[in-house]
Amino acid sequence: RTWLRSVPSPGQVVAEPGRVPAVVAAPHVPTCHGTLVEYANFDHGASTPALASVVAAVDKATATYSSVHRGQGWASQVSSHYYEAAREEVARFVGAREGDEVVFTRNTTDAFTLLARAVPRRTRVIVFATEHHATLLPWEPRNTTRLPVPLTHADAEILLADALARTRGSRTLVVLNGASNVTGEYWPVERLSAIARSHGARVALDAAQLVGHRRVDLDTLGVDYVAFSGHKIYAPYGAGALVGRADWLDAAAPYLAGGGATAAVGALSTTWRTGPARHEGGTPNVLGAVALAAACAAIRENRVALETHEAELTQRLVDGLRAVDGVETWSIFGDGADRAPVVTFTIDGLDSSLVSAALSAEHGIGVRDGKFCAHLLVDSLLADEDVDTAVRVSAGLATTDEHVERLLAAVASLAAQGP
Ligand code: PLP
Repeated sequence: RTWLRSVPSPGQVVAEPGRVPAVVAAPHVPTCHGTLVEYANFDHGASTPALASVVAAVDKATATYSSVHRGQGWASQVSSHYYEAAREEVARFVGAREGDEVVFTRNTTDAFTLLARAVPRRTRVIVFATEHHATLLPWEPRNTTRLPVPLTHADAEILLADALARTRGSRTLVVLNGASNVTGEYWPVERLSAIARSHGARVALDAAQLVGHRRVDLDTLGVDYVAFSGHKIYAPYGAGALVGRADWLDAAAPYLAGGGATAAVGALSTTWRTGPARHEGGTPNVLGAVALAAACAAIRENRVALETHEAELTQRLVDGLRAVDGVETWSIFGDGADRAPVVTFTIDGLDSSLVSAALSAEHGIGVRDGKFCAHLLVDSLLADEDVDTAVRVSAGLATTDEHVERLLAAVASLAAQGP
């Protein structure tokens, strides 16, 4: 097997350390004025365009592939090597501890559903109402406590500590969000997980909106599990990961029962494997894992450049939108909160779906409108308004200065026209 060690994994080949990673070129799209404009993607919070290095990694892995973990042939061994190298990169990306498991999943929703099935029976689950539905909903309702939307970080800490004090003696899992998909605000994960730990609870972190913007390190954050999706960090759809403590995962029923998950199958009994294979039955999504790992490697190696780029974008978007008459921006923890380049706003008297349709048709700008799979949070933010949905702009590596200028001018002109 020595030769195999010299076959670099695709992600290692193509990353360019120290630069803002390049995304694939944006298409030109038609407007209702009969012009073609470069697509201004302000929907990175939903899915990001692929990095050029991710496309190259997938191309490379596609050139030769075969069955994974099931063949001695050269192509099988290369594919198995790529798959396991991808697992190592994901572990490194989130600072996995010795003994942590990295299970490849379809996305964050899949990862949290897997975790919800692996949680031992009668475990109490504590979750904030601010969560995305992927992490709000998979838990057994009668064992779940939903905390209200906090107003400040200190408020969140008090709410959590109170809830934990009431679960004394029970095995407890606290579910935390790293960055809100509605407002982009970062949560004080380290402080909240310290509170959870002081009560003997475990912590699961939804990092879907966090890992693309900020470094996640399981040990430093003090969390037990983390999940995220490739399509939100510049890899295509179909691959995500759940990383964390092995004991619950190894004791749980296999998430996908089938080939690869079994150690031995007899007429009357089945012995399931432990480790990630237990939950990855069937032929895995190797190209998805390669893409995910290539994105992780590019972000990890270019973290400083990426954060600088995003900090500038965030500032310009927040300041620019707040300066428009008739525009209201929304946040959980108040205007000064530190956030990813995500801003949710409403325009006085204008329906959000109309705003988003006009931005697309007239200006070639893609945004998201609605409640962003976080109904409880959006209902709470807009409780005193005469609208019940909002518009979300989320910038990223595909965002240029021209896109920001175009967006701000378009929003200002819509606000000036009024209802
Ligand atoms: N958590 C957050 C904060 C999200 O923003 C999303 C997706 O928007 C999810 C979870 C679910 O991610 P996926 O759709 O990739 O499963």
